[in-house]
Amino acid sequence: MRAAEAYRRLKEHSVRTAYFISLGALASWDQRTMIPPKGHQHRAGQLAELARLVHRRRSDPRVQEWLQALQDTEAERPADSDISANVREWRRIYQRVTRVPEDLAVALAQAESEGESAWEVMKAKNDWRGFKPFLKRLLVLKKEYAEAVGYQGEPYDALLQDYEPGENTANLITLFSRLREASTNLLERIEDSPQRPRTDVLRGSFPLREQRRFIRETVARLGYDLEAGRIDPTSHPFELSVGPGDSRIAVRCQQEHFAPGFFGAVHEAGHAIYEQGLSADDWGTPLGSAVSLGVHESQSRLWENVVGRSLGFWRFFFPRAQEHFEGLRGITLNDFHAAVNAVRPSLIRVEADEVTYNLHILIRFELELALFRGELEVEDLPAAWNEKHRQYLGLTPRDYAQGVMQDVHWAAGQMGYFPTYTLGNVYAAQLAHKAAGELGDLQDLFAKGEFAPLLLWLRENVHRHGSRYLPKELIAQASGEPPNVRYLIDYLNDRFATLYAL
Ligand code: ZN
Repeated sequence: MRAAEAYRRLKEHSVRTAYFISLGALASWDQRTMIPPKGHQHRAGQLAELARLVHRRRSDPRVQEWLQALQDTEAERPADSDISANVREWRRIYQRVTRVPEDLAVALAQAESEGESAWEVMKAKNDWRGFKPFLKRLLVLKKEYAEAVGYQGEPYDALLQDYEPGENTANLITLFSRLREASTNLLERIEDSPQRPRTDVLRGSFPLREQRRFIRETVARLGYDLEAGRIDPTSHPFELSVGPGDSRIAVRCQQEHFAPGFFGAVHEAGHAIYEQGLSADDWGTPLGSAVSLGVHESQSRLWENVVGRSLGFWRFFFPRAQEHFEGLRGITLNDFHAAVNAVRPSLIRVEADEVTYNLHILIRFELELALFRGELEVEDLPAAWNEKHRQYLGLTPRDYAQGVMQDVHWAAGQMGYFPTYTLGNVYAAQLAHKAAGELGDLQDLFAKGEFAPLLLWLRENVHRHGSRYLPKELIAQASGEPPNVRYLIDYLNDRFATLYAL
């Protein structure tokens, strides 16, 4: 078969598979927002059958033939050409899918779904003993999985590839050690500062209807196209793209607290804005797909934190917030801005401020790495968890629910996932630094309500490329240098030096 014909068939196969995947996405969205309680069992059956179908399509032996036919002409194509980028990703997906024996894939899918259900029930009861066997089983299967898909350095590297292609453990260890030192140092200086932001200004009565209105206004202004998206209530906030013209978010607002609903919404809108910037013409192929969780998270965190917690942003939005919420009318802009940036070590990752957030991720990274290296047993995990919280955050969890059972990730088999949150922060700071260099003072633009220049910069340098480059290459292309944690450290030091008069 000629290369051109093989490429045409691969592309068609990829797009048709993507239609099934996007039907699954729609079913998941419904499951997390609208489904009646008694509908869950049937939905799980639908999704399992769809996953089987997608797995078969991805491991179809014809894919191998088509890839083979393209191999001979590979040297003639530039590495970042459309064809090369798509073929690189199709080959990667095919290899990962076919290297895992079917019985292992089935056992993993089952253990992940059982683990997540067990976690739901047992976290509520603080039942670590009951949950432990599920985690042990998942760890055994994930180790088998790592051996099956293969790795260059160590087993944990194999897991990273599912979330951040091209990332490796050795690099993360270096990155986290620099970030740990900078974060703990900054935290100590903040704790010594006499400045104490008034966080009570974020508590009071924030009617849900008004919160939803204010959120819609804000995210639309930032560039989230609501004609190609929607916002619904949910218990755990998320973003989910069905396809071109349909990138949705779901948020959870609390009547008595302004921050979680608002910043959660801006975060998820950041994910949706990225999806809306992917090439619709390339939908269903790697070129039209988000490249990694780290890059995805860089977009959500850039809008949520770098933009959404900045003074320029609130210069524009605070008077508008005051129109919506009576309780904010006697508050000054500076007090409000200090409150949304207040730093205080806490036990809960999702409530953490920007300074301590990466320490939460570091703890999880160190623990899962130790589990994978065989340096830590599941049996000893709670004690190790508590010890690291004492060491890095000066706090000890009162129970398992606030401690080792806090997140769903391990229960759902998502090991190797956590580092992508910090990578997102690293990429976001680096991209924002570069964008500011090209666009001028971003704070001045934000204060005038001008977010389009930044959005267009991200569209041009990040979004439209989809998976043309590996994540690190994409960041290097966009910012002019390989990912470097220094930009995040500088950003945090700058922002909090001003806020806490350091
Ligand atoms: Zn996110």
